[in-house]
Amino acid sequence: MQFTAAVLRGPDTPFTIEDVTLADEPGPGEVLVRIAGGGLCRTDLAVRRSDGRSPLPAVLGHEGSGVVERSGGGTDLAAGDHVVLSFDSCGSCPHCRGAAPAYCESFAALNLFGGRESAPRLTDTAGAALAPRWFGQSSFAAYALVEARNAVRVDRSLPLELLGPLGCGFLTGAGAVLHTFAAGPGDTLVVLGVGAVGLAAVMAAGAAGITTVAVDRHPQRLALAERFGALPLPLPADAAGGGGLSERIRRLTDGGARYALDTTASPALINDTLRALRPTGTLGLVARLHTPLALEPGTLDRGRSLRHICEGDAVPALLIPRLLRLWQAGRFPFDQLIRTYPLADINRAERDCDEGRVVKPVLIPAAPRG
Ligand SMILES: [Zn+2]
Ligand SMILES: [Zn+2]
Repeated sequence: MQFTAAVLRGPDTPFTIEDVTLADEPGPGEVLVRIAGGGLCRTDLAVRRSDGRSPLPAVLGHEGSGVVERSGGGTDLAAGDHVVLSFDSCGSCPHCRGAAPAYCESFAALNLFGGRESAPRLTDTAGAALAPRWFGQSSFAAYALVEARNAVRVDRSLPLELLGPLGCGFLTGAGAVLHTFAAGPGDTLVVLGVGAVGLAAVMAAGAAGITTVAVDRHPQRLALAERFGALPLPLPADAAGGGGLSERIRRLTDGGARYALDTTASPALINDTLRALRPTGTLGLVARLHTPLALEPGTLDRGRSLRHICEGDAVPALLIPRLLRLWQAGRFPFDQLIRTYPLADINRAERDCDEGRVVKPVLIPAAPRG
């Protein structure tokens, strides 16, 4: 079948809207999904800076949602089911068996390098192969052939086109708070950087009765975090470090925070925030570091810990329905972070995201022809 997709051909080129061909029908354990919407996530854009590690040209997109068109069997998903797509995992390694699929031993192979596919399945109009499937989905397209294992069925009454970011960005922020930290009423949390992941953490913390301090340089983002219940802590726009950040956090958290979530990968902010944690406090990292992270003496004293958090430690089939129940109760208003764009406007969406005009762009493919 032929359909429209946004193709990234090189690290320095814009996305191009092209016709692509999918030769295969869904095999066992796969479903063909007509995409209703797809969130643009930092990990898609990071492919531009991956120095050739991620193969191009590729159809990216890993926060898709849509309607099952056909099933290849071996799954209880059926045509007409509404699904949210998340990350891929093997299902059989010790981490998958231990309900920690985000730490699947094949995570990178499956999600970044299309590890399940013996041959690329999408070709362009010249017949040239595109990179293997991205995050088990490649959802910046009108259709995606996905692993049923990645697809979480959701109620048909929900606004399907907005739900894709629950599969990665919102899952990451909310999962860090609700799963990794398992924080609850009376706990204190610092969120460094309130983009899509940070704001999802702020919302989840609000839903769980946690006092949250939001740290950012951008006044509009801080205003959003404040609207969702966080105490805003503005950073000076020009300072390399946090300008006395530790002390300001301690003041706002009655002596120190129990948890911190970093989305900035800034070593200066991470060091300052570690110092503002209470004994045995934890700082979770979700962003990829671009520079070495040197910890200053004393930052990990008193039992403090620093850990990486992948995909919010989530089992998507459990956390996505939980977040949807919170949304329905008005306690996780993720839709307020979303602006929709036609898929054809993906480059404008990327610019708006980079320049801080939108928190979470969601791309809507045009209705299929004929
Ligand atoms: Zn696994
Ligand atoms: Zn993502």
